[in-house]
Amino acid sequence: MVHSAIGQDDLPEMVHFVDDPEAGAKGVIALHSTALGPAMGGCRIWPYQNDSARLKDAMRLARGMSYKNALAGLPFGGGKAVLQRPEGDFDRAKLFRAFGSVVATLDGRYITAKDVGTSVSDMKSVAEATPFVAGLPSPHGRAGGDPSPWTALGIFRSMTAASRYLWGRDLRGMRIAVQGVGSVGFGLCAMLAEAGARLLIADVDAEQAECAARKFGAEIAAGDALLTAPADILAPCALGGVLNQETIAALGAPLICGAADNQLEREEDGDLLRARGIVYAPDYVVNAGGIINVAAEYLHESEQLVGARIDKIAHRLLAILEQAERDGAPTNAVADAMARDVIRGSQSVAA
Ligand code: NAD
Repeated sequence: MVHSAIGQDDLPEMVHFVDDPEAGAKGVIALHSTALGPAMGGCRIWPYQNDSARLKDAMRLARGMSYKNALAGLPFGGGKAVLQRPEGDFDRAKLFRAFGSVVATLDGRYITAKDVGTSVSDMKSVAEATPFVAGLPSPHGRAGGDPSPWTALGIFRSMTAASRYLWGRDLRGMRIAVQGVGSVGFGLCAMLAEAGARLLIADVDAEQAECAARKFGAEIAAGDALLTAPADILAPCALGGVLNQETIAALGAPLICGAADNQLEREEDGDLLRARGIVYAPDYVVNAGGIINVAAEYLHESEQLVGARIDKIAHRLLAILEQAERDGAPTNAVADAMARDVIRGSQSVAA
């Protein structure tokens, strides 16, 4: 079943509700902007507290996707799907096929992919019902599959570039705190360990944390102690809202660069970070590697092109850090203004 509502300004262009009790599929698809092309963004499944939490998350994540796609120079607008994770065991294939049927009704205005809680295998179920999905296995040399390693690569390169910009050194010997060692965080830890960084990690999934600790010789922090632990860089790679009034006051790292979407609870939290002298790499700028891969898959482009586009992420970050320093402005405000310019068509970004 699909319901629609139209919004304006920063609200989504459209919101569609997924409601198929028989398949256990309940959720929201928010299309924030289709000004640059069809709205593209992943599908998240999570045990939300209530309907309004789901709607709010879908809307904020969709806006983030519009800005992310715009600054990555992709010919896509921004959208996001969030689904309620059913309690206990459930038939994943059936749920994601039902979700795919709703995506199909949008006739290509929304293109979905993997996000938190979903997998390549879930996207295969979606693909049984609609062609408007990416994140599927692809032939050798062509873009496709799990976007997470590409996201991790974009974060790693951004951290390296920011560290050289701020401190004139690379990551060897640096203490880096990684919150969440799932699809992106785990891959990021592998690159950081290889680069000679010292890792401090946390994950609510204790087994996952232990696995990463064993593999990368990382130290495990107890829950939120990770945020306050002295470190050179903090990489939030779990869920959003981790940077807020309460946490910012006690953060232990002078540079934040991670994969989680919507790390700032409110836009004003960017000012708080700046006031504390903490440099924030805007999340949707540095975590664009995954969507760059998803977009290339959808457009049948090569893996080589994905690599070349990911190389540009760190340059974009440096341009933002430099402008923020020049203007005395928070980095998130600088990035948002740049993204809005691209969406309005007053500036373009080379992909
Ligand atoms: P994931 O579900 O594979 O991993 C998230 C990990 O974080 C899990 O291991 C989970 O147990 C852990 N976690 C959850 N809450 C936590 C908490 N409070 N403290 C510590 N650990 C916690 O997700 P992912 O695909 O790795 O994505 C991570 C983040 O990056 C998400 O915010 C996602 O939106 C964002 N992101 C992912 C991609 C991608 O390519 N996968 C792209 C862009 C942005």
